Amino acid sequence: MSDKILIKNGLILDPAKNSELKTDIRIAGGEIVEWGTELVQTGEENVIDASGCWISAGFIDIHTHMRDLGQKDKEDIHTGTKAAAAGGFTTVVTMANTDPVIDNGMTLSMYLQKISERAVIEVLPVAAVTKGLAGQELTNMVDLSEMGAIAFSDDGKPIQNMTVLRRALEYARLTGKTIISHAEDLDLSEGGSMHECALSTELGLQGISYTSETVAVARELEMVRLTQAPYHFTHISCASSLDLIRRAKVEGLSVTGDVTPHHLALTVDEVAEYNTNAKMNPPLRTGRDRSELINAIKDGTITAIATDHAPHTKLEKSRPFTEAPFGITGLETAFSVVYQALVLEKHISILELIKLLTIGPARILDLPVPSLSAGSPANLCIIDPRIQWTYDTSHGYSKSTNSPWDQKKLTGRVVCTIYKGQIVYRSEAITAH
Ligand SMILES: [Zn+2]
Repeated sequence: MSDKILIKNGLILDPAKNSELKTDIRIAGGEIVEWGTELVQTGEENVIDASGCWISAGFIDIHTHMRDLGQKDKEDIHTGTKAAAAGGFTTVVTMANTDPVIDNGMTLSMYLQKISERAVIEVLPVAAVTKGLAGQELTNMVDLSEMGAIAFSDDGKPIQNMTVLRRALEYARLTGKTIISHAEDLDLSEGGSMHECALSTELGLQGISYTSETVAVARELEMVRLTQAPYHFTHISCASSLDLIRRAKVEGLSVTGDVTPHHLALTVDEVAEYNTNAKMNPPLRTGRDRSELINAIKDGTITAIATDHAPHTKLEKSRPFTEAPFGITGLETAFSVVYQALVLEKHISILELIKLLTIGPARILDLPVPSLSAGSPANLCIIDPRIQWTYDTSHGYSKSTNSPWDQKKLTGRVVCTIYKGQIVYRSEAITAH
């Protein structure tokens, strides 16, 4: 296929300029080379008719689990990046809790090799803060950073010892790389499998209270205050944590936060019937928390949406609720879910949503700010807001099917994704000739 593409009649959404502009885009050599109305097709160009569609810079997900290296029955870098491309993402940041853990140079270089062999979009690896995610001994953050680790995180096994975190933050400051925190006090959440509320009592399940998250956020913020290092809280789930982050930002600490599509769209009620595809960590909370997460987006406390795409096998998710693993897939549905929950429900504009999926995450990890200007890499997605579709995990790109949106109707869909000038995803819904 030619690497020359002409996209006709799309509406460009550019949150940096706060503009929506109908124009054609010409792509060649992996870059956007020209904008203009009525651009004329040259001989070898692949033309995409984007009438009625939006064009955005490719989305960036700063919290993905690809499962490669050792858990390829759940996902690998190829299927995971195909799923990401189907969701409009052209960059994903992958967590270090792989098997083996990315906590040393050899494993990181093996992982980088797999990325170069298997990824269809950009994959930026996070390395572990502590060896084996055990929360005790720091990894060689300087070497890992120089080798290409984009950030550091013990996601899934959060650091409990604040002396260890303090030392890690000092290295984070030295390397300029952010630590990503899954804030959880493991003593407070121990044994819990859903949000602690009347429903958890009714279902006979041990709950996970707000305090397990908020206590961790509070003590970690003390360490950030002490070290003045960059720090990012991922998948914040409740109002009380937001208050702490809000105040820290006002104080001037370099603290940021993201939320997941599922915490923005769903509540703890999904767990009724012991639905293991509504079991995630942090757990789905209440309607009030959901509203507060949306308010935190509106006031700038939260500046990114991250999927926490966490594939698990059918066998694992078919276990009894208390034994099933935490986590759901989310790359393929992310845009549609947040488009419905935030834009169609009139909380924010489409430009504000695009910012949460592009510029917002880029700024958190100091990545190049995505742009559709001429001369920029041609990383973009085309979205058709008119499409009503039913998500069917059996036809998805992810190897895993643990999604609460399986067989659910969604509105708005990414129909084409282009990475470095190559079409990496295109649905039948968009014509190309
Ligand atoms: Zn996590």
